[in-house]
Amino acid sequence: MDNCIFCKIINGQIPAAVVYEDDRVIAFKDINPVAPVHIIIIPREHIASVNDLTVENAGVLTDIFLAAQKIAEKMGIADKGYRLINNCGADAGQTVFHMHFHLLGGIVLGPKII
Ligand code: 5GP
Ligand code: ZN
Repeated sequence: MDNCIFCKIINGQIPAAVVYEDDRVIAFKDINPVAPVHIIIIPREHIASVNDLTVENAGVLTDIFLAAQKIAEKMGIADKGYRLINNCGADAGQTVFHMHFHLLGGIVLGPKII
């Protein structure tokens, strides 16, 4: 996808600190971390947001969550706990329109909205 910053990371056009990758998913450190562990997990397929998931492409959600499990283990936070967050659309503050999940941990996280 042209002009998608995360597609450019997938293609190697923009560098990123990759912590995990397989044939369907790639994960890298957020450029502006808000916690000691702040990893962005994305599908290699360009899916703009949760609104663009379909029966055909929604299998990537399983890949993303299984990747999160492995990354949390690798980062030493699997037992302590972590959050997986997705922002979908303007009201949620989504800024990059290539669907992604934030994996946050390594600290006692702040108050929950829900
Ligand atoms: P959103 O606000 O869309 O949920 O999250 C986008 C995230 O992508 C932000 O936390 C932002 O810091 C991160 N981000 C934006 N551009 C880049 C980049 O070029 N490299 C990396 N590693 N992270 C980025
Ligand atoms: Zn993309």
